[in-house]
Amino acid sequence: MRIDWPGVLLDLLNTTPVVDGSATDYLATDASTRKWLALRDGADERPDTVRQLRDDLQQVVRGQLPAEVLNRYLTAVRQVPKVHADGLDWDIGVSADWCARVVLAWGELQNTRPGRLRSCANDECQLFLIDRSRGGTGRWCSMSECGNRMKARRHYSRTTRADT
Ligand SMILES: [Zn+2]
Repeated sequence: MRIDWPGVLLDLLNTTPVVDGSATDYLATDASTRKWLALRDGADERPDTVRQLRDDLQQVVRGQLPAEVLNRYLTAVRQVPKVHADGLDWDIGVSADWCARVVLAWGELQNTRPGRLRSCANDECQLFLIDRSRGGTGRWCSMSECGNRMKARRHYSRTTRADT
């Protein structure tokens, strides 16, 4: 199975959406977490570890925790070099478990798109986005949901202010 790790990272961050005005957690139970993981090649992971990783990542992306808290998920990552006739190669991939893969995807995004992984600018929305816009101006998880809602609200507050 070929896994889109940045996609898994975003999916994991977005497991606590606000649905119809109430906070929801797709990983609320071990059973629902296992089901969620099985669809993302993580069937062997412990649900409580994955929930902890999710909580840590959410707080790191929101700037509420230092990124260093993620180090604990990387302790088992190994890179094994391969010797060949001309010498030795390191560039042959990494051995890492599911949680480590997610943290590595976060690190890769930090390196290649600094600051582009962020929480939605709608403070009533709990979702995150990877801003792929050219100018780095993406602020909402989705333009059709939060984007239009926030624009309408700003327009409303502008017009009501103008009336008073
Ligand atoms: Zn949103």
